[in-house]
Amino acid sequence: MLQFTTKGILCVPGGFYIDPWKPVDLAVITHGHADHARWGMKKYLCHEHTVPILQSRIGKDIAVQGIGYHQPVTVNGVQISLHPAGHIIGSAQVRLEYKGYVVVISGDYKLQDDGLSTPFEAVRCHEFVTESTFGLPIYNWASVAVQNEQLQQWVSSNQANGKTSVFIGYSLGKAQRIMKALEGIGPLQVHYSIAVLNQAYESVGIRLPAYETADLKEDPKHLDKGIVILPPSLLDSQLIRKIPNMAHAICSGWMQVRGARRWRSADAGFAISDHADWGGLLEAINATGAQKVYVTHGQTAVFTRYLNETGIEAEEVLTKFGAEEEPEETV
Ligand SMILES: [Zn+2]
Ligand SMILES: [Zn+2]
Repeated sequence: MLQFTTKGILCVPGGFYIDPWKPVDLAVITHGHADHARWGMKKYLCHEHTVPILQSRIGKDIAVQGIGYHQPVTVNGVQISLHPAGHIIGSAQVRLEYKGYVVVISGDYKLQDDGLSTPFEAVRCHEFVTESTFGLPIYNWASVAVQNEQLQQWVSSNQANGKTSVFIGYSLGKAQRIMKALEGIGPLQVHYSIAVLNQAYESVGIRLPAYETADLKEDPKHLDKGIVILPPSLLDSQLIRKIPNMAHAICSGWMQVRGARRWRSADAGFAISDHADWGGLLEAINATGAQKVYVTHGQTAVFTRYLNETGIEAEEVLTKFGAEEEPEETV
């Protein structure tokens, strides 16, 4: 039913693509991250909470249809439905059914319930397309409750030492998780790029913890001893250095490995990810009952080999996904 083409993942009988990277007529989008939702499609189909994200990132005038989870639509005889992927708000696994044959394209996913995204739901299928961003046994996340406590404790110790707590996290997904973890423990200041995405979520009725937009350019003194959340692009920038009494923490799955290059420059690192860890990937794959697994991005070679060795038929496929949480580029 699927064909992996130079434009993206094609549903052959449906004639549409899932997360294509070149312009096509109909693109079914798993979630709003830039490597999965790109410019130039004639029409977009995605979860209703992803609609304002696409409008904010790609353009107000795009043709986009938003649907809820478990609300099937049929295109050329193929039934399309979206199921929670737990990755970021609005993220979806795409289930395709044609003449009784079922394929699920997961996009990016995680099994942990972050308290913001609709929790991941396993979907039975014949073929499953998976990511493998953290597909090595060394990646194994602490529970969300433990992660939240670690962030709160770090803020408390900074406050006791007269320091400003600066968190670095991806602006779509991670930043909102950090906000959620710190809800109620102090006023949260977020960078403009994060505030724009927060507004997109609030526009569809999602409630986020209270925040203010941090003005880094004017006078960073008002941030002194506060809590600030910034995107990775500001790491090592002039702006961040102007924040008084700054201690900065990087929140990324890559922080699980202490040798990560960025770790060395940070005051703290928290292994918090919106992707499944090793155990999560295997649990999700087993729960699908799929006879065939395609591995699209991340640790594709190692992970595919592991699946094959454990009796799950798997194949590595070449895609353009995976630029959102690279170890070197964006922490
Ligand atoms: Zn993603
Ligand atoms: Zn991805």
